[in-house]
Amino acid sequence: MKSTLLSRRDLDFLLFEWLHVDELTKRERFAEHSEETFAGVLDLCEQLATRYFAPHNKKSDANEPSFDGRTVTIIPEVKEALDAFARADLIAMGMDAELGGAQLPMAVAAAGLAWFHAANTSTAGYVLLTQANANLLAKYGTAEQIDAFLRPMLAGRFSGTMCMSEPQAGSSLADIVTRAEPCDSGPFAGTYRLFGSKMWISGGEHELNENIVHLVLAKIPGAPPGTRGISLFIVPKYLVSADGTVGERNDVVLAGLNHKMGYRGITNTVLNFGEGGFRPDGRPGAVGYLVGEPHRGLSYMFHMMNEARLGVGVGAIALGYTGYLKSLDYARNRPQGRPVTTKDPTTPPVPIIEHPDVKRMLLAQKSYVEGALALALYCARLIDIGRSAESADELESSTLLLDILTPIAKSWPSQWCLEANNLAIQVHGGYGYTREYDVEQHYRDNRLNPIHEGTHGIQSLDLLGRKVVARNGASLSALAAAVNQTVSAATASGGELGELAAQLEAAWRRLVDITGGMFASGDIEAALANSVVYMEAVGHLVIAWMWLEQMRAAEGRDGDFYDGKRQAGRYFFRYELPKTGPQLDLLESLDRTTIEMRDAWF
Ligand SMILES: Cc1cc2nc3c(=O)[nH]c(=O)nc-3n(C[C@H](O)[C@H](O)[C@H](O)COP(=O)(O)OP(=O)(O)OC[C@H]3O[C@@H](n4cnc5c(N)ncnc54)[C@H](O)[C@@H]3O)c2cc1C
Repeated sequence: MKSTLLSRRDLDFLLFEWLHVDELTKRERFAEHSEETFAGVLDLCEQLATRYFAPHNKKSDANEPSFDGRTVTIIPEVKEALDAFARADLIAMGMDAELGGAQLPMAVAAAGLAWFHAANTSTAGYVLLTQANANLLAKYGTAEQIDAFLRPMLAGRFSGTMCMSEPQAGSSLADIVTRAEPCDSGPFAGTYRLFGSKMWISGGEHELNENIVHLVLAKIPGAPPGTRGISLFIVPKYLVSADGTVGERNDVVLAGLNHKMGYRGITNTVLNFGEGGFRPDGRPGAVGYLVGEPHRGLSYMFHMMNEARLGVGVGAIALGYTGYLKSLDYARNRPQGRPVTTKDPTTPPVPIIEHPDVKRMLLAQKSYVEGALALALYCARLIDIGRSAESADELESSTLLLDILTPIAKSWPSQWCLEANNLAIQVHGGYGYTREYDVEQHYRDNRLNPIHEGTHGIQSLDLLGRKVVARNGASLSALAAAVNQTVSAATASGGELGELAAQLEAAWRRLVDITGGMFASGDIEAALANSVVYMEAVGHLVIAWMWLEQMRAAEGRDGDFYDGKRQAGRYFFRYELPKTGPQLDLLESLDRTTIEMRDAWF
């Protein structure tokens, strides 16, 4: 039976027929692998996700973690799933071989992880956080920190968190107040003591394994103001002795759990540091180990942000994808109504997939989730090319492209694969609005993605305020060059591909002109006021580009799968790409409606 989590056929098309990830094995970094090992990893991920993650997705939603003031209780299936994941050595799948990792390309690892997000995004969340934490320590940790904290995480003994947000500081991390005081004497000399409160910390407390490694942003007294004064610390729940055993409890405690709309299976916590509930060496303060140099903590976090944001995009896509497949299945099996051309009420009703409007909703979902998946895997392959670059030019061009595409790879799926979930509910009619079916949960789970890892609005400021203008627009030029390459090749093919290429080229040229005009005006306030409109327009153009790429890869191939690709691509160009016209008009006019609106007028 075909899975309703993801389409393996589509993954194979994108990875092997379009992106040719098997060619990565010609590079030294990936030389140990082959198309067979890649396929084996995808098989394994599908099997584990189906067997251990999907079965408790609804149960963990209905039975969210609880806290009795001492211990957090989580349904046992979560631990069983995470243990199975660790036993399969998947935590380190993308990491360097010298750390015990499989050194798989990110494109393959991202496709593998998508299975777990589609099956159970909450339980997968524990893995994602541990991987993000481990990636950061692999890059910036000392050899001792790697041995004490990273290796146990890769073995599944410890898990990881990312502690950035505070109650008063979410988008604006410059305003965090958690402080880290240097400790000069005693058994913890050379470490720091942390005091403060962190908000929204996913996976912040549980008993799923031996220890939790918190990566915490804090300010050392006397640090420069703002983001330039933020440092990064490892704060383990239990202190770890030199031989690696877990020892005394550290002074970090759970203040309470947040009760969420979706994503309910993973704990979301308020953590207090340094309140004195536990007293290492007889005094309050959570023992923290500085990562890298003082005051550079945020830059370390940002370094990892590309992958973390891509990970959020992949999660959003997976939820959109499984909702699409489930609504497709439903539409094929739900008889209701008759074709508009049938007048005879005694004829049997048809499956709703026969109605053009239901096909519209399915096509929209297909075009969003398959378009977004193409973008995510394209970005993942850019990471692989960067990591295995064979020349400075290759490193430069992959970095420039990845920089500008990252906010889009995070925000576009978070917006449009959520819309796919909305449409999946609609296809199910009243049944979709009930908890007996899966799609309402997918919608609630997916609603987080435009909020965390930088909100939708913050992504747009990053795109327009930083990435587009950085280095005199070098990233935008790199993206334009990549789009033009596809346009030229599709133009050379002629026919339908040539026509679509002409549409994309015209819209793209207009975007580039308007971008120049927005900054030439000198009215930065007006330019940035509509940054979300800008990001949404660029996002649609990028996904149109991804569809043209997929249609090129399907060119000359027969069969339902390829016909489906062509039709979804047509849908995107006919129904979605034209939406960018009014957006570009608004941007061109440097509209000031939002700026001029006053608080009192609401
Ligand atoms: C379920 C969940 C899990 C999370 N997990 C973690 C985690 O593990 N670790 C962690 O550190 N954090 C985590 N977060 C925190 C998350 O990253 C923040 O919620 C997010 O950064 C937004 O911060 P905020 O909630 O304080 O909203 P605010 O920053 O107050 O933003 C509110 C609104 O104002 C807008 N806004 C804010 N500033 C600006 C601006 N300068 N310009 C334009 N618009 C602006 C935002 O876009 C948003 O729409 C999680 C959050 C949730 C809900």
